Amino acid sequence: MPGLESVSEWTRGYLGGTRDLLIGGEWVPAQSGRRFEVIDPASEDVIANVAEGAAADVDLAVKAARRAFESPAWARMPGAERARLIWALADRLEAEAEKIAELETLDNGMPIGVARGAVVPLSADVFRYMAGWATKLEGRTIPLDVPPQPDAEFFAYTLRQPIGVVGQIVPWNFPLFMTSWKVAPALATGCTIVLKPAEQTPLTALFLGELMTEVGFPDGVINVVPGFGETAGAALADHPDVDKVTFTGSTEVGRQIVRASAGNLKKVALELGGKSPNIVFDDADLPAAIAGSADAVFFNAGQNCVAGARLFVQEGAYDELVAGLAERAAALRVGPGLAPDSEVGPLVSAEQLERVTGYMGAATEEGAKLVAGGGRLGERGFFVEPTILTDVAPDMRFMREEIFGPVVGVTRFTDLDDLVARANDTAFGLAAGIWTRDVSRVHKLAPRLDVGTVWVNTYSLNASALPFGGFKQSGWGKELGEEGVSSYLQTKSVCIGL
Ligand code: NAP
Ligand code: MG
Repeated sequence: MPGLESVSEWTRGYLGGTRDLLIGGEWVPAQSGRRFEVIDPASEDVIANVAEGAAADVDLAVKAARRAFESPAWARMPGAERARLIWALADRLEAEAEKIAELETLDNGMPIGVARGAVVPLSADVFRYMAGWATKLEGRTIPLDVPPQPDAEFFAYTLRQPIGVVGQIVPWNFPLFMTSWKVAPALATGCTIVLKPAEQTPLTALFLGELMTEVGFPDGVINVVPGFGETAGAALADHPDVDKVTFTGSTEVGRQIVRASAGNLKKVALELGGKSPNIVFDDADLPAAIAGSADAVFFNAGQNCVAGARLFVQEGAYDELVAGLAERAAALRVGPGLAPDSEVGPLVSAEQLERVTGYMGAATEEGAKLVAGGGRLGERGFFVEPTILTDVAPDMRFMREEIFGPVVGVTRFTDLDDLVARANDTAFGLAAGIWTRDVSRVHKLAPRLDVGTVWVNTYSLNASALPFGGFKQSGWGKELGEEGVSSYLQTKSVCIGL
């Protein structure tokens, strides 16, 4: 199995080096002196040790971010200069694609082709898109009529100003990509950042901090504090001098973030879980629907918040679709991310392996029928089989809860109203897919689905300009696009009596 020996000397050196916290432009050990192990999910080997930040370190990082926020070097930096720095960072990400890909694959497990060919270019694109906004943060002029003062004249306008110090807590499923969604708009708007990567995947966040220092962002604009959610993450959500906390992860932790934020009523943005319906009509281009539906739930080993985990297929297409999907699942090459021909890597951790195989077992115990996969693959590394279940009922546990693994439950439908009711019968509302050639059906159905994103004849497509975020218990607010930029700004009204 290709492992550490197959990566570049640079990557081995980076992993073997002292990976500390980035606070106020300095690399420092944790106050406690503690470190934690980083594991390669393909081999289960320890590949690095990282300083373990906790409340005391978060406090120092917040102070550094506050100083940076108030410093003329950042607060008075023209938007065009911020844009130039962000653009330079995007260039550096692309130039270091190979290093980033190796770190991301070793840390998270994803196929190296995905890290190199999708994660790096998509992340660079988010930075470039957001760089454009740095010079376009405009307010408005607002004509005023004030009835009790008919003769008075006013001039009123709005300013759009950065929210301030932002705590960013990111998950392990797409470490660099999810980080770029948060860091890029914060930089474009002139905020400063304390970033806490997931304990499972701290490496590319630390490297990003290095690249930001190198391209010339002032000290303290970004601070990177790896550590555990219960300590470092909780301290960030609770900190009285953090103005906004933005979180991507589980709905359960999202609730804890909301509670923790109440002390100083910091602004909260949440990107949470899903149980997304993917709907195939019998007039669809079936080969495309089969490939797309497989990708919707098997891509990144199903560790995808928008995973199309509930597949609804119209009666007439059902048999062909299930057969095609099973064929796809059996053909997918599951293996170490560093092996060039792997299409699906391991799950991220032993904990996720246990969770996902637990759901697989429970599903068949509850009476679902296994059409493909169903368990762990091999004995070393956290690999699982792409899994398809039919004969599923909506109240089965695995049909209601987010699994975050390559597991799909397939059901058939005939009636459209019944389909809409079943698709919406979930606490989540992140995304949905529709596969059909009938454009009129698309426009009638899309508004009725209770979700933040609807994909038609494609799935999982994230573009920097397209707002993304969930309805219902899938989140608060949007990331990306103009709305994503606005979420880092606050509007000030200025009213002048003339
Ligand atoms: P998680 O616990 O929600 O972790 C996401 C991030 O939140 C990590 O950085 C985590 O830190 C941090 N965190 C955990 N507890 C915290 C707390 N009390 N206060 C502040 N931050 C905290 O997710 P997970 O345990 O890694 O995975 C569990 C499930 O979450 C998955 O199976 C999946 O269902 C869901 N999930 C969803 C997404 C998504 O994109 N929507 C992403 C990842 C996971 P540590 O990692 O250090 O604990
Ligand atoms: Mg966790």
